[in-house]
Amino acid sequence: MGEKVSIILTSYNKPSYLQKAIESVVNQTHADWELFLMDDHSNEETSAVIQTYLHDTRIQYYNSFIQHSERMKTARYATLINHALSFITGDYVSYLTDDTIYHHERLSRMLQVFRNDPAAQAVYSMQKVVHINERGEEALHFYRQAPGVLNNAAFQVDHCSVMHRRELLEKVKLQYESYWDDHVMHWNHGDSIFWSRLNTFVPFMPINEVLDTTYKTPDSFQNANQCLPDVLIDGSFVKGTDQKVYVLDQDTRHPVGERWHSVYSGRTVIIPDPYLFQYQIGKSVHIPNYMLVKGPDQPDVFYIEGGRKRRIENQYAFHFYQFKRKDIFAVHQDELESVPDGQPISQGRSGLMINPPGRRLFLIGRELFLFLNGMFHPIDTKVAKRFFLHQKPIAISFRKIKQFPIGKPFRPLYDEIIKKLSIKID
Ligand code: UDP
Ligand code: MG
Repeated sequence: MGEKVSIILTSYNKPSYLQKAIESVVNQTHADWELFLMDDHSNEETSAVIQTYLHDTRIQYYNSFIQHSERMKTARYATLINHALSFITGDYVSYLTDDTIYHHERLSRMLQVFRNDPAAQAVYSMQKVVHINERGEEALHFYRQAPGVLNNAAFQVDHCSVMHRRELLEKVKLQYESYWDDHVMHWNHGDSIFWSRLNTFVPFMPINEVLDTTYKTPDSFQNANQCLPDVLIDGSFVKGTDQKVYVLDQDTRHPVGERWHSVYSGRTVIIPDPYLFQYQIGKSVHIPNYMLVKGPDQPDVFYIEGGRKRRIENQYAFHFYQFKRKDIFAVHQDELESVPDGQPISQGRSGLMINPPGRRLFLIGRELFLFLNGMFHPIDTKVAKRFFLHQKPIAISFRKIKQFPIGKPFRPLYDEIIKKLSIKID
C-alpha cells in the first residue's frame, strides 16, 4: 500500500498565517502528499498568497465563491472538507486550518506509526496552542496532550492533530450519509462531531510528540464566538475580519466614523463574519445611540436613544442609572440641536421607574438583566462582559419593574448547543 497523504487545508482571510500553513506542508520531510487548498472566498490579500503556490502541481486549489448571505447556512470548513474528500487520491487523510502549522516531521512520524501497527486506523498527536493578543503578540501557550488510546476523542483532539486511513471514510458515509456533519450548529466543534463518527469504528492511537502548532487569534472563530448570544446586543460596537467598526441597531449595522475612536476603542466586540453579515449595512451614524453627550453652552447632559436625545433631568437620575461623568462626550451645540428630543430621563426617590434608559444593567433578585428596547432581558454575566457592559448593575426589586415585559435572554449560544449534544468524552 502507498503512503500518499491527502491534506485538506481550509482558508478564510488569514493571509499571513495561511502562508505559514502552506509552507509547513511544502516543507514536510515526507514528500508524497497532495494539498487541497480550500478557500472560502477570502479577501484579495489571501488570494495573492494562494496564487504564489499554484505552480506546485501537488496543490489543488478551490474557491467556494460563497456569498456573505449564504455563509451562516453550514459549518463552512466542514462543507469545504466534504467537497475536497470527494476528490482525494491519498491513502491517508489529514486536516489543516489556516492558523496552524505542521511540524516538519509530522507526516513521516504519523506514517511510521501506521507502518508499525497495521491495525491502527486513526492517530493523533500532541499540539502546541499559542494565544495571540490584539497586537499580534504571543500572549500565552500550552500543550494539548496525547494521554492514551481514545475511544471518545471528541472535544479532546484538535482538527489539525489527526491522521486517518482513507478507507474509514466510506464506512462513515455509509452509516451517516455524509463524511463531516456540516450542520451550522456544529460550527464550533465540527471536528469533534467527525471524531465521534470515526470513533464508532476505531479508537485514536496516541503519538506522544508535538507535531503541530495552532495559533488562536482574537478573530478566530472560537474566540470570536465565545459567549455570543444568537441575537447581538443593540448599541454595541462590532467589527469583523475587515476591521471596520459598526454600531448595531435592530438588524442593521451602521458604520461609525473615526471621530468616535476614543469611544469604541477597547470596547469593540469582534464578531465572526458569518454572524455579522446577517446584519445589513445602514447609513453611517452622526452620534451613536446610548452615548452620553453634552453641548458647550448648557450644563444639560443627554442620553442618545433611538436617534433622539433624552435629557437627564437631575443628578439623582444620573447617579441612579449609573451614568459616569467620564463617559460624557462633548459635541457641538448645533449638532446637539439637530437631534430631536426624546422623553427625558427622570427618577423619583420612590424608586418607581418610568421610561428608564436603555442598555442599562439591573440586578433583580439575584439575576442580571439588560433593559433594552422597552424590555428587561435576562443576560448571562459572561455575555455582558463580552459586550463591554461594565456598568455596575442597578439593584431593584421585581415589584418595581412588573409593568415591563421580560424579553428573550442573552445567553451564550454554543454553551446551550454543547449541553444538548450527547457525545461521550473519555
Ligand atoms: N473558515 C471557513 N469559512 C469561514 C470562516 C472560517 O472556511 O467563513 C475556516 C477557517 O479558515 C479555518 C476553520 O474554518 O480553517 C476554523 O476557523 P478559525 O480558525 O477561525 O476557528 P477556530 O480556530 O477558533 O476554531
Ligand atoms: Mg483556528
